[in-house]
Amino acid sequence: MAQDIRHTAHPAVKTCIEVLQAVARSAAALGDEDGDEIVKQCELLVSRISTASANKQAGLDWNEIGDLAVKLVEREHDFALARFADFRQMIWVVIQGLREAFQDEQSADNEVVQHLSRLNKAVDSDSIDELRTEVVAAVVLINRAIEDRKKRQRDQLEELGTQLNRMRHELLQAQQELALDPMTRLYNRASFDELLEKTIELSLFSGQTSCLMMIDIDHFKEINDRHGHVRGDNVVLQVAEVLRKTFPRKTDFVARYGGDEFAVILQDTQLHDGEMLANRLLADIKSRALEVADGESLKISLSIGVSALQTNDTASAWVSRSDQALYEAKRAGRGRVTSAQREA
Ligand code: GH3
Ligand code: MG
Repeated sequence: MAQDIRHTAHPAVKTCIEVLQAVARSAAALGDEDGDEIVKQCELLVSRISTASANKQAGLDWNEIGDLAVKLVEREHDFALARFADFRQMIWVVIQGLREAFQDEQSADNEVVQHLSRLNKAVDSDSIDELRTEVVAAVVLINRAIEDRKKRQRDQLEELGTQLNRMRHELLQAQQELALDPMTRLYNRASFDELLEKTIELSLFSGQTSCLMMIDIDHFKEINDRHGHVRGDNVVLQVAEVLRKTFPRKTDFVARYGGDEFAVILQDTQLHDGEMLANRLLADIKSRALEVADGESLKISLSIGVSALQTNDTASAWVSRSDQALYEAKRAGRGRVTSAQREA
């Protein structure tokens, strides 16, 4: 632009060109359409001055050039001030947003709120340096506050997770409690009903039959009458223990059906296997002397009815068939196994 006249031009011309170039640089640094326009005007003026000076053109109107340069400088100044105002407006909006966000959180973020007030004051002042200093300080502080807040939230989430796990565990325990008979810890009647339905559904898919055993303690009333209810309870508990040991398979389901009656579902088991297991249980109980008190024991017997699941069985039909078999065992003299061979 003005290189060719740098050494030859009059010092006043050189100064004028340098001022215009400085204005152009400043406008370009702000960078947008208005800025570009100022840059163009400056370049035009510098080019006119350079050409006129190189040609020693007598008719160059220095007053006009001076006026134009002053106008350009003023325009650039207004332009910079307007940009500064925009910038302040932008910072102010950010401050409001941050203040609202941080006021939600209590004392830990007080420092940030105070700093935002100072930043607000700096925005009101005309000093871009002060504003810059405050912005930088606020950014550091806000970053730290955000990190602190994240950590607090992480800790809260962890605590929440621990509480949830504890609740889940308690719920699971409560569910298990609901499924069990409180005295014997065998499955209760409700669980039995549920599993019986499931067994029937499963057998539709597997095509395998299953066995249902109904077991009742013989003459239990007499045991109560003769030995008292506490000893009677101990008999129930020990029969439960023997049942647990006799049917250890995961798919064997032992329940207290009520009172002195128990039910066992043997999944995927044929009737003759069910009968064999029932007889083994009977023999086991017969061979034992059940301890009912310190050093005191007695012998008992069981009656067992067993039946296999039939096609189209409902749960209640299956139960009543096994019950009927149990009744037959009682009627035939107790202490025996009776099985239902056909549909009842
Ligand atoms: P059967 O041989 O015909 O079964 O005669 P039973 O005396 O055992 O008669 P039944 O099974 O009808 O009566 C069971 C009795 O068991 C009735 C009830 O008083 C008693 N009983 C039920 N639950 C409990 C219990 O948890 N503890 C005690 N000690 N007795 C119970
Ligand atoms: Mg009984």
